[in-house]
Amino acid sequence: MIAHIINTDIYGRGILKVYLEYRSQNFNFLKNSAELLLNNSEKVLIVSSFPIPPMNVCETDGPLGALALYKAVKKIGGKVEIWAHEQVKRALKPFGVTFVDQPNASDYYLLISVETVGRAGDGKYYSMSGIEVKTTPFDEIFLEAKELGIPTIGIGDGGNEIGMGKIKHLIEKYIPLGEKIATVVETDELIVSAVSNWGAYGLVAQASLEIGENLLKDWNERKNLEIIVSAGLIDGIVKKPVMSVDGLSVDIHEKIVELLKETVNYQL
Ligand code: CA
Repeated sequence: MIAHIINTDIYGRGILKVYLEYRSQNFNFLKNSAELLLNNSEKVLIVSSFPIPPMNVCETDGPLGALALYKAVKKIGGKVEIWAHEQVKRALKPFGVTFVDQPNASDYYLLISVETVGRAGDGKYYSMSGIEVKTTPFDEIFLEAKELGIPTIGIGDGGNEIGMGKIKHLIEKYIPLGEKIATVVETDELIVSAVSNWGAYGLVAQASLEIGENLLKDWNERKNLEIIVSAGLIDGIVKKPVMSVDGLSVDIHEKIVELLKETVNYQL
């Protein structure tokens, strides 16, 4: 059920078909991701940054998901660090997050990306509308992790995010401009969602079921969004620092969070 909730495709952006086909072949993708997280929480690196062209300001989808995962790893007693664009670091600073710069994959047990742009087949980075994105190559460490055999999880909602390389054929099949924007960067586990923050919350909810404790219990979507918007992060679709994420008002995000919290409560 959690996988369905996080794929509630309110705007009908095409990810629903990707999700349904992906799920039909990988029914347990969320459970597998949660197990990978719980088995490797000793030291986790979370990466999240998507600078929106042409203004090159980072968006609100991603950082909140990264923060929810960060808090969850802390709660279960793991160590965790976030690597992100300077704007995202500034936005997450009030939460007392530990950041890292230029990390080495070999220092971690697990790498997670939440809505971080990954390179396409031509080596460039693209937005959903096919515009080139100027970014630090945050995906490099995921390529390195693959060579070293360090586990990775990718969370995305469009096809151009780190991890989506695992289902490049589905992105090309169902997503407009898929052939251009699809990333080639794969992760061991991949969480497909309608909004990447929801994908991260879904992972926290699934991990909650595995350990028997609701790790999303204290999550306050409105308050947390207010903090990162006041630091200047923008809605990636309306391209303004407003109380919405991916073009959906904060009310909708609160409702999805509520559904996830209640699903965990009922199932525990
Ligand atoms: Ca998104």
